[in-house]
Amino acid sequence: MTVVENYGSLVFNDRVMKNKLPKDIYKAIRKTIDNNTHLELDVANAVAVAMKEWAVDHGATHYTHWFQPMTGATAEKHDSFISPTGEGEVMMEFSGKELVKGEPDASSFPSGGIRATFEARGYTAWDPTSPAFIKDKTLYIPTAFCAYSGEALDKKTPLLRSMQALSRSATRVLHALGKKEVTAVMTTVGPEQEYFLIDKEDFKKRKDLIFTGRTLLGAKPPKGQEMEDHYFGSLKPRVAAYMHELDEELWKLGVPAKTKHNEVAPCQHELAPVFDTTNVAADHNQLTMEVMKKVADKHGFVCLLHEKPFEGINGSGKHNNWSMTTSQGDNLLNPGKTPAENIQFLVFLTAVIAAVDNYADLMRLSVASAGNDHRLGANEAPPAIMSMFLGEELTEILEAIEQDAFFYKHDKVQLETGAIVLPHFVKDTTDRNRTSPFAFTGNKFEFRSLGSSLSVSGPNVVLNTAVAEALDHIYEKIKDAAEDQLEQRLHEIIKDAIIRHKKVIFNGNGYTEAWIEEAQERGLYNYPSTPDVLPVFIEKKNVELFLKHQVFTESEIFSRYEILLEEYNKTIHIEARTLIDMLQHEFLPALRKTIESYVQLAGEKKALSDRLPLDLELELIESFSGQYEQIFDGLKQLTEDTTKAEGMEDQLTAAHFYKETILTEMDKIRRIADQAEAGMPKELLPYPTYADILFYV
Ligand code: ADP
Ligand code: MG
Repeated sequence: MTVVENYGSLVFNDRVMKNKLPKDIYKAIRKTIDNNTHLELDVANAVAVAMKEWAVDHGATHYTHWFQPMTGATAEKHDSFISPTGEGEVMMEFSGKELVKGEPDASSFPSGGIRATFEARGYTAWDPTSPAFIKDKTLYIPTAFCAYSGEALDKKTPLLRSMQALSRSATRVLHALGKKEVTAVMTTVGPEQEYFLIDKEDFKKRKDLIFTGRTLLGAKPPKGQEMEDHYFGSLKPRVAAYMHELDEELWKLGVPAKTKHNEVAPCQHELAPVFDTTNVAADHNQLTMEVMKKVADKHGFVCLLHEKPFEGINGSGKHNNWSMTTSQGDNLLNPGKTPAENIQFLVFLTAVIAAVDNYADLMRLSVASAGNDHRLGANEAPPAIMSMFLGEELTEILEAIEQDAFFYKHDKVQLETGAIVLPHFVKDTTDRNRTSPFAFTGNKFEFRSLGSSLSVSGPNVVLNTAVAEALDHIYEKIKDAAEDQLEQRLHEIIKDAIIRHKKVIFNGNGYTEAWIEEAQERGLYNYPSTPDVLPVFIEKKNVELFLKHQVFTESEIFSRYEILLEEYNKTIHIEARTLIDMLQHEFLPALRKTIESYVQLAGEKKALSDRLPLDLELELIESFSGQYEQIFDGLKQLTEDTTKAEGMEDQLTAAHFYKETILTEMDKIRRIADQAEAGMPKELLPYPTYADILFYV
């Protein structure tokens, strides 16, 4: 099969629908997909029949509603198509009702108190805007997941609601600007996914990786990433074979995997698809993470999606490239050749600036997790302070507007490489800034703070809703403007917004201490950790935002806040218990053996002759014994405090305790253990070291 034939071969996509569905049904479903209209049951029935036939032709025996509960993973419950005929035979059946609605037992999914355990009923509802696909002989139907009461228990529902909100607000503004032909505005997302690939055999020997996804112990290898020789380096054959199969599997599923390369850290790689509508991109990213793990297993690898699998080595993020496109296919963040004269672009840019400034706290919240706390603010990922990068040209345009000055357009500059044989091309008008959490990159924004394992839903819910709100403010000011006043009015709005919101624009280096101070002077939010930022979810201004745009109900917000807190606490609880287990059962016994081996050696030397020097053995025995004692004491304290944390009633208090006490204690133990590890004989080490894992793939 060629790549083109292979692509989307397991997807019930537009082409298949066009072929399989009666014309009027096809039209009806297209209308639902393109314009968010309601879908009638007779349409669903016809689609179900076509879907089943297509799926059975492709070897499927089962179907599943596929949904994204608040665990961050995906969930599925398989039913077969078979239906007994009564004569000992079966038929393959699938109805519109089965397509549209499922009833999985919801009682064991996190609900943050929305649903009492006795109200086990939950519903899944077909999302016709995201295409169904076949995986493992099963037809996967993307669905939303909600409680009996209608409240969302998943990540997809609020995302769809936020897309609707943005579409409504953006369309109104475009109509006011004279673009009456626009019927909807879609947000688009292209997520760049970072990951680590390590050998399965190494993985299996490390409880910390198995239980927590990150190493809790491990001395620095002699070589780290300081040579920067891995970034964009040539692919090792084993890794190349993996990436190749990964691409093929993703293509079959209609995921447009496009770019792949090695990342900064050893064993770290990246994959980026071509962007898509946010909802589809979110589903595809969940699918990508799943397929990455599955294909890794086949190649004897384990794919690590944790934000910080190895201390001292770069962690993994996910860059959320985001923009808005009209029903006519125009990218609203495309500045065109002359951005200074492109008033529509400037209006939408202004809305994004206002949104980020007003809701930077929610943006920070949307990327908060125990794993991501190891990245944000460390010198390798964007800082925890949210600011935005616009680049030289746009910043100058905005300054000119602010000062009522004239903007002199930059001429595009030819890139001079100095080598005559190289083709000449025109430079971008602005360089990149890798230290900004939210950077304009030509025709889209790149939200760079997401952790690698995060669903992209949350961050996009915040972006969409905050921008919708900013657009509503603009709309209020232009809706009654007479045609000949409109331009002046828009100019005033843009100017006013720049003055009020320019504090969030920062084009400098976000990694410096000076920026932290400056950001504080500017009055920007700075929430270093997850427990610090979680309460902003339930702050009045933010609750009001979500309520107004009908993205969350009040109880959905509070339940999500509870779920996030619980998830944070549970994550660190498991980490602490894993560390305790590893120290007790593996590390301390190995350290004791190390001490014993030197005691034995000293004894043997002494027996041989009184004149042999024992200084070295004694020194090692003393140093290892000291470490043993310190670790032992730390372990006792950690065990006590972990039990204490578990008993805490108030989850926020517990979260701060986990962060300030438990993590600090874990870190303290680790320092000593890593020192000891560096001096221990290799054959006594109970698990593969950083050097083993990172440099032998
Ligand atoms: P980088 O140079 O940032 O590593 P990549 O090429 O790896 O860039 O990724 C850029 C991502 O941005 C791709 O997924 C691409 O499809 C996506 N992208 C491009 N245009 C848009 C857009 N208008 N909306 C959303 N995403 C976009
Ligand atoms: Mg990028």
